Amino acid sequence: METPGSQSSLHRANLERVVRAVRLAGSLTQAEIARSTGLSAATVSNIVRELKDGGTVQVTPTSAGGRRARSVSLSGDAGIVVGVDFGHTHLRVAVGNLAHQVLAEEAEPLDVDASAAQGFDRAEALVNRLIATTGGATKVIGVGLGVPGPIDVETGALGSSAILPGWVGINPREELTERLGVPVHVDNDANLGALGELVWGSGRGVKDLAYIKVASGVGAGLVINGQIYRGPGGTAGEIGHITLDESGPVCRCGNRGCLETFTAARYVLPLLFSSHGPDLTVERMVQLAREGDPGCRRVVGDIGRHVGSGIANLCNLLNPRRVIIGGDLAEAGDLVLNPVRESVARYAIPSAARQLSVVPGMLGGRAEVLGALALVLNEMGDSTLLDGVSQAAKLTFT
Ligand SMILES: [Zn+2]
Repeated sequence: METPGSQSSLHRANLERVVRAVRLAGSLTQAEIARSTGLSAATVSNIVRELKDGGTVQVTPTSAGGRRARSVSLSGDAGIVVGVDFGHTHLRVAVGNLAHQVLAEEAEPLDVDASAAQGFDRAEALVNRLIATTGGATKVIGVGLGVPGPIDVETGALGSSAILPGWVGINPREELTERLGVPVHVDNDANLGALGELVWGSGRGVKDLAYIKVASGVGAGLVINGQIYRGPGGTAGEIGHITLDESGPVCRCGNRGCLETFTAARYVLPLLFSSHGPDLTVERMVQLAREGDPGCRRVVGDIGRHVGSGIANLCNLLNPRRVIIGGDLAEAGDLVLNPVRESVARYAIPSAARQLSVVPGMLGGRAEVLGALALVLNEMGDSTLLDGVSQAAKLTFT
């Protein structure tokens, strides 16, 4: 039996620190591992050798930063992780390994509101097909699941049935766990977008950031000190319901003049119906704005201005280093980003805005599914890895 503080339990703790650092970052040089764990270079070197001999990590030459170095990542054959993203109009699945490499990815159109059972049937089929293409049906460590609505991360239940009418009474996590037979982690689309950009996109190397998804609604995924911040009820980041105008239109949440009533499709598209016809979509509006259409440019710019004042509030509270704009509106580029930046400069206190950069997401529509992969990489325990691949192999995919 190990006593805390004993030589062997310290050693075990150091092993876990190194595995955790590598697991979260994807790959690190030994110098970076030393910096992020606080361990000495000699200790890191010994631990990496031990982990490599045990098959937990792989060490490959790299020329990052112009200097030759060796990068350490989790062993590519230690297991695979799966991401499933339900959007309002699509289903997207990705399969990756523990070295943060995406092995297979595919999206298909899907009306998720129609029927949850149909959605999960399609997801199950697509997951099985993609796993088959990666050459092995074993060692699935976990599945990350994204849903386009509020979710109780503890129970896996939907927080509001109003968002997805066809999903009433369904617990998405239980449903998918039952079908796939592996642990499923679930979160909302904005949090997963934040995780995706943090690990693979515009947020790499940043510990404090906000990912703002401007699509059918407005939501924020908050990363504080490298971790998603959800709050006890999972409601953190509901930036779309900041009040901008007390006498504004009634919002779906019951309040008046929420940010969402200035930015969501059902409020802003009607502004253009008399000039551009009733069939206008957000996608088309963004495209026309990019082509120079003055009315669409005005509406896109106004959305940016309003989102920017919401972001200014968020900056005063949380002082993030980076704000990443994702969702359909991000396709408008500077047409939406510049008004966001102007509003932030105007409304945020200068010390909160000084070190802030507002940038577009790098991952586009892939942010959520890659975030679902990152969720599994975040949540999986390191003891699973240290106790050998055998532990992961128990979770055989059927
Ligand atoms: Zn509201």
